Amino acid sequence: MHTLPASDRLNLLQSILCAVNIGAVVLDGERRIVLWNEWMIRHSGLTNDKVIGSDFFTTCPGLRGGRVDAAIQQALYNNFPSLLSQTLNKAPFALYSNALAAARHERIQQAVEVTPIAIEGAPRHCLIQINDVSIAVAREKLLREQTMVLRSQTFSDGLTGIANRRHFDVAMEKEHRRAKRGGTPLSLLMIDIDHFKAYNDHYGHQKGDQCLIQVAAALAGMLKRPCDLMARYGGEEFAMILPETDVEQATMMAETIRARAQELGIVHERSGIDTHQVTVSIGIATQKVDAPVEMEALIGAADRALYQAKRAGRNRIAALVPA
Ligand code: GH3
Ligand code: MG
Ligand code: MG
Repeated sequence: MHTLPASDRLNLLQSILCAVNIGAVVLDGERRIVLWNEWMIRHSGLTNDKVIGSDFFTTCPGLRGGRVDAAIQQALYNNFPSLLSQTLNKAPFALYSNALAAARHERIQQAVEVTPIAIEGAPRHCLIQINDVSIAVAREKLLREQTMVLRSQTFSDGLTGIANRRHFDVAMEKEHRRAKRGGTPLSLLMIDIDHFKAYNDHYGHQKGDQCLIQVAAALAGMLKRPCDLMARYGGEEFAMILPETDVEQATMMAETIRARAQELGIVHERSGIDTHQVTVSIGIATQKVDAPVEMEALIGAADRALYQAKRAGRNRIAALVPA
């Protein structure tokens, strides 16, 4: 095996220490700095003639008494290595990626590792390694944000921006369970635009979309409590979940919604009513406190109530008690 003479090996090691893309600091048993590599010089702005031989905590006063201090003690006196938790120690060292970041006091995000090193014939030293994890941290943040956006997208309707069917299913199940457990009433409204096929046929699909957006926004804007939910249930049908709402309150809400939809004054030449406006029909179902039913029965009752409202002439509301 080809081996280098001792002096060449030392040179090689020094070149490596210079080239590595990681901060390396070595302290002696008295916690004096005996090594401060190029990476540290580049990112701290402190040169070797300032730091070599100096007390570590005089050079880095901010670290005294903190977790890096504790890790150094562990290494020097107990011979234990430590990896500092990233969440607790984002940037313990005053290290900056460039002058601009330094001026802004934006430190490099760091992963710090402190390792004891045994040196023959001398008290134990320790090696502090500092890794720049800024990019990984930024990537993680971006991923978290993207996850949030994706999650909100999977729960909202692409056209109207209100809650979608999936959101409705999840919320309905939750509220149904909550009503049962808490012994509170729960109301459900099914809201369907009248003669919407005729609207589409007459004005075109794009106008139809505009109408859906306008109606959805107006109705969703009527909700007052955070627990209420208005969702697009299907095509031109919306569902409103009203927890802790009895049949009288639900009926009042439905009538207000019906009137509000008509007030929008969206012209509909083929509406079949003499005012030629877009209107809605609403089916109401309320689960009573003393007679809880399955969730499907509640939805079925709201559907049947809606059908009744349609049959009775549209632009009206109808209520049913599920059984
Ligand atoms: P009714 O009063 O009985 O509810 O009659 P309707 O015409 O409203 O009901 P129908 O179920 O016959 O028609 C619903 C129409 O809604 C048909 C479909 O083309 C339209 N529709 C469903 N989703 C959308 C959509 O996203 N955009 C548009 N523009 N139209 C849609
Ligand atoms: Mg309809
Ligand atoms: Mg419909």
